[in-house]
Amino acid sequence: RAKQEGRNGYRFFTAEMQHQSARILQLESALRQALDRHELHLCFQPQVSIDGRRLVGAEALLRWTHPQLGVISPAEFIPVAEGSGQILQVGEWVLRSAARQMKQWLEQGYPPAMTMAVNLSLAQFRHPGLVELVVDVLQETGLPAHCLELELTESVAMHDPAAAIAVVRRLRALGVLLSIDDFGTGYSSLSYLKQFEVHKLKIDQSFVQHINQDGHDQSIVRAILGMASSLGMLTIAEGVETAAQRDELERLGCDEVQGYLYSKPLPAAEFEAFARRHLQQAGKTPALAATPS
Ligand code: C2E
Ligand code: MG
Ligand code: MG
Ligand code: MG
Repeated sequence: RAKQEGRNGYRFFTAEMQHQSARILQLESALRQALDRHELHLCFQPQVSIDGRRLVGAEALLRWTHPQLGVISPAEFIPVAEGSGQILQVGEWVLRSAARQMKQWLEQGYPPAMTMAVNLSLAQFRHPGLVELVVDVLQETGLPAHCLELELTESVAMHDPAAAIAVVRRLRALGVLLSIDDFGTGYSSLSYLKQFEVHKLKIDQSFVQHINQDGHDQSIVRAILGMASSLGMLTIAEGVETAAQRDELERLGCDEVQGYLYSKPLPAAEFEAFARRHLQQAGKTPALAATPS
């Protein structure tokens, strides 16, 4: 396209590219100090059973506030960290912090079947030390393996299917749970999906958004749910914002939901307040201990 637009188009393209690569370099160098300077923190988004009665888990989502650059979205800095290799160090921090937090919550009386979901990037998943890292984190934190869920994407799964299937088997053998994030947006093959034996599919929010208006989205969700159920997998819908979407998902047979209808991703203390309210409403665990400060 730059060539077609002639010299001016080409110049503009170059300037835009320079601007972008300068931003990437700026973020890379800022990210190098982010861990040491405690600029990163986790938010936790509640995951709720489709009937709304059970708090089934939380997804850990990374947040970065830089003193000068302000809040930087993970949609921007995760790809930068992936490109520079920093995702390995950052991802390890996320895994340890999320596991430590979940262990603390279990000790405070949260439902023992609750899971903590952590996103894994391709580089983390392909790293030969991943399985040992997970073993180490579970040992160090004392978190039961079945309370940790690792989220892969279809591209992670399909990058090198045979190798990925082997890693999934080793992780499953530890007892951790596995899910496929943003399901339906990638290019995974159904025959591999069967061999993957992950526990859960996360239906991408793009199919949920118009589920009440768009018959095609409804059909896609129905097909995903049918396939998951025949393969013995659980399902969770992402990005559920309205009761009408939740009702439709329940009618179609989805197991769990996550989205603004229940809550945005929350800092730990606010997640605790949410959990306390939710568990009280459901008539369970009358009082969770508060985090000692
Ligand atoms: P994701 O894993 O698919 O996470 C779901 C995203 O949807 C989150 O965006 C969440 O805040 C947002 N969301 C949740 N409910 C709703 C809703 O009802 N409506 C709408 N419109 N959005 C909703 P977030 O936190 O900005 O994260 C974006 C992506 O960045 C994540 O997508 C994930 O791919 C990546 N990411 C975040 N934290 C990590 C991490 O620790 N490691 C890795 N590798 N990736 C991460
Ligand atoms: Mg995710
Ligand atoms: Mg997702
Ligand atoms: Mg995603």
